[in-house]
Amino acid sequence: MALLVQKYGGSSLADADRIKGVAGRIAAAQDDGHKIVAVVSAMGDSTDALLRLAQQVSDRPSARELDVLWSTGELVSCTLMAMALQSMGRRAISLSGAQAGIRTNMSFGNAMIADVEPARILAELDRGNIVIVAGFQGVTEAMDVTTLGRGASDTTAVALAAGLGAAVCEIYTDVTGIYTADPRLVPDARKLEEIGFEEMLELASYGAKMNPRSIELGMVYDVPIKIASSLGDEPGTLIHGGATMKPSVGEIRNRVRGIATDTNVAKITVLGVVDRPGIAASLFEPLANEGISVDIIVQNASVEGATDMTFTVKRTDLPHALEVVSTVATELGSRGVVSDADLAKISVVGTGMQDAPGYASTMFRTLADNGINIEMITTSEIRITCIVSKDRVADAATALHSRFQLEKPD
Ligand code: ASP
Ligand code: MG
Repeated sequence: MALLVQKYGGSSLADADRIKGVAGRIAAAQDDGHKIVAVVSAMGDSTDALLRLAQQVSDRPSARELDVLWSTGELVSCTLMAMALQSMGRRAISLSGAQAGIRTNMSFGNAMIADVEPARILAELDRGNIVIVAGFQGVTEAMDVTTLGRGASDTTAVALAAGLGAAVCEIYTDVTGIYTADPRLVPDARKLEEIGFEEMLELASYGAKMNPRSIELGMVYDVPIKIASSLGDEPGTLIHGGATMKPSVGEIRNRVRGIATDTNVAKITVLGVVDRPGIAASLFEPLANEGISVDIIVQNASVEGATDMTFTVKRTDLPHALEVVSTVATELGSRGVVSDADLAKISVVGTGMQDAPGYASTMFRTLADNGINIEMITTSEIRITCIVSKDRVADAATALHSRFQLEKPD
């Protein structure tokens, strides 16, 4: 009997009927001959509701108390799931993160998993139980309850799959899989059968809804992750280490896997700062201290000892970032600070693009032919990224999707 770890997201558990529906799917997987560990998220948006409740009693809820409160959301869905399975005549037991052996550090609200001790889960499986585990939570050495960061039930599931040596971690959600582009922007976007971990990390951190920490865990512990819909039986997308090996053997192949877009982008330029050691540090340290993450950074070649420093932040962070930067810019004797709030990021993602010529130039030519101006460019081993105007990002994504023939099957 193979061991299967499954995870069901909050929207798939939003009410009693959906919980019963998911219980039916879990039971069916057991009938297929599997031992099942199912990780569940909190029902619907109850995590947000708990936060609002905390904010009604306190301006600054303590992180420790908030984590205990938040952990109750997943406890509700996991106990209800166990009851639903029991009422179908199945043996099932619910376990909190602590009971399931999820040990974490003490970073309340964003704790990292230190270790998984699966003894209890294994014992319950041996007793013939379906084991339902509350996602998103763990416990410190001092037995304090922690949560693992928003959306982190995925992380719980992949960590358990790794700790239990499961062959695959199945994540069931409200989308049918990972797409070649955001289907809301690109009508021809196609569901991928498979994708590599590295490629998925780029897509995850560039918009596609999937917790990047769970992908990283899958990559490190080599746990394939299947993403599929919790409704219907459409095959989903398999994220795994060998994905890029599959295309017909040969070197001539399309290396572009997908187009990632992010419309929450703003740009700040600090003009004419003196080019000397320590400038970048004194500019970016205060931003880091304020918890503002900076993405693309470009420092121009200096002219007569002065240089411009341009970088992007989330548009939603722009007002805060400008406050911080203006103060520092004055201290650094810069000529001023300018910003642009209406930008977007578009990336062409695929393993091996770096080793084949022409991908970058094709991207730039395609944007040019569509009259789309490029504001900034960066590249990594598996990605070419351009900053463009937010108004044109859908046109850009559609043009690139068709130019790289992503509508064609794998
Ligand atoms: N319930 C938590 C959240 O909404 C964790 C999760 O859904 O994965 O962030
Ligand atoms: Mg949730």
